[in-house]
Amino acid sequence: MALHYVCRHCQSQVGTLDQERLATTNLGFDVLTNAERQNMISFMSNGDLEIKTICEECQEALDQSPHYHEQQTFLQ
Ligand SMILES: [Zn+2]
Repeated sequence: MALHYVCRHCQSQVGTLDQERLATTNLGFDVLTNAERQNMISFMSNGDLEIKTICEECQEALDQSPHYHEQQTFLQ
């Protein structure tokens, strides 16, 4: 079993964790609600898990867009 991290915005593969690393990695799933978990995690046909996350590029774009939006609002 492996975990595949996929960007929820651009669908690019962010990373993969195999089971050996899973055993020693705190995934943080325990802080998520069941709904969040179901929303983030999907089972693939081969038994692997796909985790929806966000890649660096999309994170940067999101970090920048609120400022852009603020500026637009300010200019009006
Ligand atoms: Zn992305």
